[in-house]
Order: sequence, then C-alpha cells, then structure tokens
Amino acid sequence: METEAVMVDDAIFDQYPLDSWKDPGHRIMDRFSLAGKKGFVTGGAGGLGRNAAAAWAEAGADVAIVDLPRTRETLEPLAKEMSERYGTHVVPLYCDVSDRGQVAALKSSLVDELGTVDVAFINAGVNVPGDDADEPYEVWQRTLDINLTGAYLTAQAAQHIMREHKHGGSLIFTSSLSAHNANFIAGGPSPVAAYGATKAGIYEYARYLAAALAPYGIRSNAISPGYVWSGIFEGRITPDGHDLMTAPVPMRRFGTNEEIASAVLFLASDASSYVTGTNLQVDGGYSVY
Ligand code: NAD
Repeated sequence: METEAVMVDDAIFDQYPLDSWKDPGHRIMDRFSLAGKKGFVTGGAGGLGRNAAAAWAEAGADVAIVDLPRTRETLEPLAKEMSERYGTHVVPLYCDVSDRGQVAALKSSLVDELGTVDVAFINAGVNVPGDDADEPYEVWQRTLDINLTGAYLTAQAAQHIMREHKHGGSLIFTSSLSAHNANFIAGGPSPVAAYGATKAGIYEYARYLAAALAPYGIRSNAISPGYVWSGIFEGRITPDGHDLMTAPVPMRRFGTNEEIASAVLFLASDASSYVTGTNLQVDGGYSVY
C-alpha cells in the first residue's frame, strides 16, 4: 500500500524561535523597553503610582499621571520633573476614578494627549477608616466605589482605546496582600474588610479580562504588594510599630516603591509577553504563611 504524503503547513511553528540570543542584534534587555509606548497610571500622585510612572518614562514611554484634582499642586511639578529628566511626554490628568462621567472625559483626554494607550496601571485605591467587621454602609460603599468600580471604569477606558485603535496592550491592576490573607498585626486582623474584598475582586476581574481580551493581544495581570513604604506610613508609625507590622513578613521589612515599580515595568513590557491572568506577589514573602 502506498503511503500518502501528509502536507503540513508548518509556518505556525515559525513563532517559536529556539535560540533568539544567537541573533547578533538580539538583546534580552530590549524586552524591558517601553520606547514609543503610551500609558497611564491612576493614583499617580501616590507612592506606587508616581514611581511606576517614572519607571515607564525612563523606559521610554509617554505617560499620563492620573489622580484627583486635589493633588494638582503635587502632580504638575511631578510631571514636569519626569518630562525633563526622561525626555518623554509626561502629563498630569485629573479624574475621580469612581465617577463615570469623569472617566469618560479621561478617556478622551488620554487620546488627545497621548494619541493612544498601550499600557495602563490601574492603581488608585483607598483604605477607608472604620473598615472592620462592624463597618458602616458608607465605608463599605465608598471602598467599593473607588477600589473596584474605579478599577472597572478605568480598565474599560484603557482596553476600549486599545481595541478601537486595533493594537494590543497590557493592563496591570493593583490588588493587595489583603486579597489573599487577612493582614495580621499584633494578635488580630487589620481593618481591611471591604478593602480586602475589593482587592480580591480586582484580581478576579484581571483574570477574567485576561481570558476575554487575549484575542485582541491585550494582557491583563495583577500585582499584590505587601506592606510598602509608599509614603502613607511616613510619620504614622513608630520604630516599634514598624517591627510589629513586619514581624509576620519573612524578610522583616517593608517593600519600597521602586520594588513595586520594577514589577509593574516587567508586566507592562514585552519581558512578560507570555504572562497574562496572573498575580505577582511583591510582599517579602508575607503570603507564604
Ligand atoms: P497612596 O495613598 O500614596 O496613593 C493612592 C493614590 O490614589 C493617591 O494619590 C490618591 O489621591 C489616589 N486616589 C484616591 N482616590 C482616588 C479616586 N477616587 N480617583 C483617583 N485617584 C484616587 O497609596 P499607595 O501606597 O501608593 O497605594 C497605591 C495602591 O496600592 C492602592 O490601590 C493601594 O490600595 C495599593 N496597595 C498599597 C500597599 C502599601 O502598603 N502601600 C499595599 C498593597 C496595596
């Protein structure tokens, strides 16, 4: 019996180079570049946001730093300093992420200022006082409005721009250690009841978008910072308080804004081009217990 030759179009395998490093022009560090990319960062006046914006600008991106109008005095000089330092276009934009109308206006401003959006750091968030087992409805609702609905609204704006402009992109959401563990300080849970619930919701939303948006070349991931010395603890805790807070952290210290920014740069850049739907814990090992 004669065997029929199987005609296989094996062009599909061309996408899997085995040794890219052998290409004389190849540099692995180029994969961390954001040259020519456009991005925005919410909560951009805060510690994590402004350091991620600086990292993206240094990597070559034009960046919109987005925060509440009350941060104008901080945000204007910050954007100017980053533009001068890195030679990219860094612009402040003002928006309450929990307000549908303001986010719709933000979407237009992003296209006006940057042309498009390739990368978005969905990071604005609050921990409202009184967020414990007996929290008032108002505390619960405000936390949900800003942290979860705000993440949904701003991620929608970002991914719709990417799809309208027919290119891919990367969404990075700030979840938290509190999405996975009840923060434990000195014998009991810290008041992060609604906060933890929103951060767990953000992680699952990021995972859903990873599945739904992969056909458009859009990746979606979360980071879960542990305790980060972002500025919000400055002047609020004593050295003893520092030791108490970091006791359950295997590395026995806070993280820094830069340690978060480098994780956010990784997830924004092509260095993570096969990473989607994941959560990157940046917490000094806190979550191992
Ligand atoms: P931060 O308070 O310095 O920054 C948060 C920023 O969000 C502020 O600039 C604030 O003005 C802005 N913001 C608040 N409500 C807003 C709204 N409605 N619209 C637009 N902007 C708004 O805090 P940070 O430490 O930089 O935290 C950034 C993110 O990281 C938050 O989502 C926070 O929950 C998360 N996080 C922080 C830590 C930590 O230890 N610092 C740990 C885990 C997660």
